Parts: sequence; C-alpha cells; structure tokens
Amino acid sequence: MILNKRNQHKLPTTSVKGDFPVTYHYTAGIAGEKFFLALKDKKLLANTCDSCKFSYLPPKMFCEDCFDELDDGTYKEVDGTAELFSYSEVFYDHRGDKLEKPLLLGLFKLNGSSTIFMHNLLVSEPKIGMKVKVVWSEHRVGSIFDLKGFE
Ligand SMILES: [Zn+2]
Repeated sequence: MILNKRNQHKLPTTSVKGDFPVTYHYTAGIAGEKFFLALKDKKLLANTCDSCKFSYLPPKMFCEDCFDELDDGTYKEVDGTAELFSYSEVFYDHRGDKLEKPLLLGLFKLNGSSTIFMHNLLVSEPKIGMKVKVVWSEHRVGSIFDLKGFE
C-alpha cells in the first residue's frame, strides 16, 4: 500500500476472511539488490524522487507517481524508526500449514519513506500509530530476514 498526495486519508480498520493463494518467483532487480546488500550492514535504504519528493522503501528504479528515473543520487539511509500503520495476527504459514504459535505481521511507515513496509511486529500489545524501531538479526546475509522485525 502506498500513501501519496491523492490518498493520504486513513480508512477505518477492517478485516477480510478468505484464502489468498499466490505462488511466484521474485527477482530483486537493481534497486532491490542495493536494498538487500545494505541490510547486511544494518542499513535500510530508501530513495526519493527529485521531481515529486515521493520516497520509496524498498527503493525503486522509477517513480511510480511521476515516472521519473531514480538514479544513484536519490538513495539515502533511513534510521529504522517507524509508525505502526496496521497489523494482523497470522495463524498459518505461506503453505497453509498451521503455525505452532501465531505471529503478528505489521505494516510500517518508516521515517524518511512515503511507502508502507510489511514485516514482523514484535510487540505484545500493538496499537495502530505506536512508534516502533527495527530489530536486526545477529546473522545477516542480504535477505529480508536480516530484520527480525519491529518493536
Ligand atoms: Zn516522482
């Protein structure tokens, strides 16, 4: 989900029950590779469009709002602090197998980014709008799991 100038309003929280079966292979691409390699060094990279000032985390090669190219000069490190935008309790893994213990997935609006980022929510009593910060894994390999989540 992306917040931009046209839809920056907040909607009431809702829930939807049902299946969402998706199987795919994902290629990180040039901007994604920079993002994942930076994770190994405990750095979260975003990039900002010079034309419209919209910021992306993870970074993009082109602005999805105004289609400008986002070159190397548009990248910056963000500090890993965020606001909890939304969250959900998850009972099944991506294969449909029941988890031993449910987990929380959060949508986070990181400081320095206009986009929403999904990862593990590591708090016991979440509240939408609460301030959180990134928690890094001890062993990092350039994967999304270099982050444990946000607390
Ligand atoms: Zn733009």
